Amino acid sequence: MDSPETAATRERVDLKNLTEEELVAFLAGIGKERFRAGQILRWIYQRGVCDFDAMSDLSKELREELKSRAFISDWTPEAVEQSSDGTRKYLFRLADGETVEAVRIPMEGERATLCISSQVGCAMGCTFCLTGSFGLVRNLSAGEIVNQVCAAVKDGPVNNIVLMGMGEPLHNLDNVVRALQILYAPQGFAFSVRKVTLSTSGLVPQMEELGRRIRVNLAVSLNATTDAVRDVLMPVNRRWPLEKLMAACRDFPLQPRQRITFEYILIRDVNDSLADAKRLVKLLHGVKAKVNLIPYNEHEGSDFRAPAEETIEAFQTHLLDRNIVAIRRAGKGQDISAACGQLKGRLEELRSVGSEE
Ligand code: SAH
Ligand code: SF4
Repeated sequence: MDSPETAATRERVDLKNLTEEELVAFLAGIGKERFRAGQILRWIYQRGVCDFDAMSDLSKELREELKSRAFISDWTPEAVEQSSDGTRKYLFRLADGETVEAVRIPMEGERATLCISSQVGCAMGCTFCLTGSFGLVRNLSAGEIVNQVCAAVKDGPVNNIVLMGMGEPLHNLDNVVRALQILYAPQGFAFSVRKVTLSTSGLVPQMEELGRRIRVNLAVSLNATTDAVRDVLMPVNRRWPLEKLMAACRDFPLQPRQRITFEYILIRDVNDSLADAKRLVKLLHGVKAKVNLIPYNEHEGSDFRAPAEETIEAFQTHLLDRNIVAIRRAGKGQDISAACGQLKGRLEELRSVGSEE
């Protein structure tokens, strides 16, 4: 049975789910000035304050009005797992009991990259991906995407954000675009568009729409150089084959020095041959590209294997010799299977870790 309080709670608006323009409109609806939005954004995102009573530059009357109509969700991870290299994996339980994960990856100096999720599960069904094997449960709201960042910055600054966790961001385009707007808001986190990267499996029409609607760095999970292989690894390829995907990449709006990142998981005897490297060079012709080579992260329940070290080196060398920027991505957080795309794999273990902490 729902109590009257919970019904009332449900009607209140979560301010973390609003873009600046939506917050301005919400405030206008209760007769408040536009500049109040900036004050509230600074409290929430710059100072991490989620309690209206602590917002000392708002009048008592406005605070009471806000309390009756709105709330500010505030996440604490249910479990945090720390890898030997400093990578931290956060597990969050959502209001409806579902879970998502985010991973904080330390970079040189005090810097950190945060990998966040856009959906619970994923509908795309890539055969190498653990998230894909769960199917899609539901989309995350903009507030749920942003809250992963809010929770992680409590552990220290986040310099870069990558939408490479669970889910296909372009399959949840509206909420992802609104989440980006919230992350970019100058009075909020004020993330620069150069610091945020969205990774897609290659939903061609949504790539075009993304380019029209908002600026963000684009990463494409390529993972194969022929349609025959990509059809098997990534079923999305049957709908949007390589030729259409590469055309969408060529058309994607880029700033003068910006490039598209192509992620290429190297899987032993599947896509790691020199013939693949040669085809990759051809595919990327005319695209402002850089390539991230990621040796396959082996996991239980998957027969795919990482290539031998010499094979990886030969593949990379072939690209470098043709003047393609090819970076070998270090698999960080391997001991806690925190590699992006491997999230949610060890949920039960995570829960037990959480109860120990
Ligand atoms: N759905 C989007 C973004 C999330 S997937 C996309 O596919 O781009 C994040 C990345 O993890 C993808 O590039 C995917 O290819 C990679 N990935 C998935 N399983 C992996 C594994 N076992 N080893 C290495 N990378 C993996
Ligand atoms: Fe979904 Fe990306 Fe995994 Fe494919 S690789 S199943 S698109 S999360």
